[in-house]
Amino acid sequence: MAKSTPMMEQYLKIKAEHKDAFLFFRLGDFYEMFFDDAINAARELEITLTKRGAGQDDPIPMCGVPYHSAANYIKNLIEKGYKVAICEQVEDPKVAKGVVRREVVQLITPGTVMESNMLNERDNNYIASLSHFSDGSYVIVYNDLSIGENNIALISSGWEAVIHELYNQPIKEIVIPSSLPDELQDQLSKKLNVTLSYQDEINFNAEYRSLCDNLTDERLVKAFSRLLNYIQYTQKRSLDHLQPAKIIELEHHLALDMYSKRNLELTETIMKKSKHGSLLWVLDKTVTAMGSRMLKKWLERPLLNKYEIEKRHDIVDGFYQGFMERDSLRDVLKSVYDLERLAGRVAFGNINARDLIQLKHSLEKLPEVSTILKQFNQKNIIELSNKLVFPEEILSILDTSLIEDPPISIKEGSIIKDGYNEKLDTYREASRNGKQWIAELEQKEKKETNIKSLKIGYNRVFGYYIEVTKANLHLLPEGKYERKQTLSNAERYITPELKEKEELILEAEEKSVDLEYNLFLKIREQIKEHIPKIQHLADIVSKIDVLQAFATVSEANNYKRPRFVDETLSIKNGRHPVIEQVMKDDSFVPNNVLLDQNTDVLLITGPNMSGKSTYMRQLALTVIMGQIGCFVPCEDADLILFDQIFTRIGAADDLVAGQSTFMVEMLEANHAITNATENSLILLDEIGRGTSTYDGMALAQSIVEYIHNNIHAKTLFSTHYHELTALENTLDKLKNIHVRAEEYEGNVVFLHQIKEGAADQSYGIHVAKLANLPEPLIDRAGSILNQLENNDEMHEVANLAANDQLSFFIEEKIPKGKKQYSKEDKSIIEDLNNLNLFEMTPMEAMNELYRLQKHVKK
Ligand code: ADP
Ligand code: MG
Repeated sequence: MAKSTPMMEQYLKIKAEHKDAFLFFRLGDFYEMFFDDAINAARELEITLTKRGAGQDDPIPMCGVPYHSAANYIKNLIEKGYKVAICEQVEDPKVAKGVVRREVVQLITPGTVMESNMLNERDNNYIASLSHFSDGSYVIVYNDLSIGENNIALISSGWEAVIHELYNQPIKEIVIPSSLPDELQDQLSKKLNVTLSYQDEINFNAEYRSLCDNLTDERLVKAFSRLLNYIQYTQKRSLDHLQPAKIIELEHHLALDMYSKRNLELTETIMKKSKHGSLLWVLDKTVTAMGSRMLKKWLERPLLNKYEIEKRHDIVDGFYQGFMERDSLRDVLKSVYDLERLAGRVAFGNINARDLIQLKHSLEKLPEVSTILKQFNQKNIIELSNKLVFPEEILSILDTSLIEDPPISIKEGSIIKDGYNEKLDTYREASRNGKQWIAELEQKEKKETNIKSLKIGYNRVFGYYIEVTKANLHLLPEGKYERKQTLSNAERYITPELKEKEELILEAEEKSVDLEYNLFLKIREQIKEHIPKIQHLADIVSKIDVLQAFATVSEANNYKRPRFVDETLSIKNGRHPVIEQVMKDDSFVPNNVLLDQNTDVLLITGPNMSGKSTYMRQLALTVIMGQIGCFVPCEDADLILFDQIFTRIGAADDLVAGQSTFMVEMLEANHAITNATENSLILLDEIGRGTSTYDGMALAQSIVEYIHNNIHAKTLFSTHYHELTALENTLDKLKNIHVRAEEYEGNVVFLHQIKEGAADQSYGIHVAKLANLPEPLIDRAGSILNQLENNDEMHEVANLAANDQLSFFIEEKIPKGKKQYSKEDKSIIEDLNNLNLFEMTPMEAMNELYRLQKHVKK
């Protein structure tokens, strides 16, 4: 049986230690996979499944990928959320006794990839770890291994806050202890949709002691160690570019609840998950990949500290004013490569000479950056320029050692400059001299033999040779030449002195290639020592890049610097930063927002499609832009600092999520209500849609009342329940506003203009008309509406509505009180009755409705 060969035993043993990964088992020029790994890999990678030991009793499923093209296959698996264990032969097969020793040399996981082909240069690649403590607190650590960044956050406010925090971060993988309660693990995997990994052991690694020096809380040290242990376990090497953990003080940042980042489309759109159409897309005028990554980070964690925000605004202002200097700044920054990732690769050990030259060129640009910064008339910009300390030591190492245009390979020589190493110079001298000697020999032989076509050549198998064509053979003297190789029209010879020189040259070349490789490794080690300095410079360059991007986009789109005030938020002619870009003409209609001391809640009414949701999101985006340090889309803005933003999108608009039951909506409203403070901003967009009219309206009203009376958070509440506008009479800090629409020749015209007061009617039917519903249907709806509007008692309105709706389905109207339903009708009613709406997704509800309607139609 094929299973029991020594090699298969070795395989099974290694596989048993890496059950949750595809084991890439090195066999010669291939990585092979066996058993389930093979079956699954064949499916995922669309490669052929074969059998090992075919013809025998129990052949093993097997598939493989060539070593030289493995990177793409690995990438494919990692992108699907799998892990790949790379198992190499760790001894030379020629000297091995028995089966060649094999070991897993690296475990590649979605959160720990270092290979540049698997990293998107404008995105961070985060892995997180989560630890829980007996006092009910949690610690989250974030790490981007490609750049060595570590961030750590302590959460004492319970599990829900953990989910909200993690949900908003772009993590690929999360490392947890297996002691985390099952239901919490379950929520992580369901809500976050990332690879779950386990790390129970948290041995404190002495090597990484210094990374924890700034952590005084034992919980943080433990949590950080969990992540470091996992990294060590996957990478199987020590990494010198890991930075001490930066503590994220969550309460020093504007917190976005779980759905805000998605609903507000900060970094990607809801539907297509594309950057195009998101706020990031509008704002990303960075020119370096590092800057782009930092901008994304800032968007995910806006600031709360007025001083820090205003410092950013000052700098943006400076960049904005000096547009000529900004242009030159952008130009120079374009030639600064990804210092952070280069530093990461130095530590990881997969950087080549060409990359180091890139590093050199990038660092050489810094004095120029610094000089340009000094030309701006702004003290914080000058301060930034002073932080760009010229990394002389690193440059002198690189400058003296590496040639300008080295090859990609570091094992074939031609990377080190002449004069860098004496021994290398001697070898090179020897080889050059030897080659010179051979060139001279060729001339000498030509002369002596009088054969013009005589030449000296070289090939790998035979070494150096003298080649003479057959026609000239008779000119050769006897005895001097030894025949080495016969070709169809020539003979190749060797002489003792040529042989001797050949040995000298080859030896010198071999030695110099070896030496160059070793020298390169040493240079890399030397650069390693300077990694923190490179990282520090990278950080400053990224900041400069993001702030110049803010200035650039603010100028291009006519944004204004906001002032931060204490009480009255007032935006004059504000715009939605993304929609105004998407609309090709200048047709976006600007609107004011006023939330003064006497206004906490704005209740927004207006027809469908008039711009309610846009208006609400526009405010949230403006707030976020202001608090990350960018200027804002309006003519003038007084902003107040918000500590948190909550967004709740009613069921109708949340179809995309596919899981928006009324229950979810209520849970999320509850989250806003329990966590919001008077300094928060709450957006409730058509809440209560997911249930029947009365339920929904009642809940909507009580939610508004509750926020108004107990929380005092600034709140925008859009609703299609006109009845709620009456609240203005009872709630003194609630104001009605509406989006204006006008009727013109029986059609509705949306003006997208926000006005004070409540909307006069809802125009729903006009919208239906716009949507091209059949004319008889529209007419019928018009007459129902008339009846409804002539009825002033609300409950009668509802009765009428219900009966009239029924008449759409059933030919004959059934007289009140006489319920003579047919058998079929009864079954439909029963089905309707049995629906458990709380547990249905909108899609399921649609399907069920469709099915019922089909019954009625036939
Ligand atoms: P509602 O929430 O009232 O149904 P939306 O906010 O979804 O309406 O807006 C519907 C459409 O109207 C948007 O897709 C947008 O194209 C357009 N719109 C909204 N507000 C404006 C505005 N201020 N200026 C121009 N077009 C707007
Ligand atoms: Mg809407």
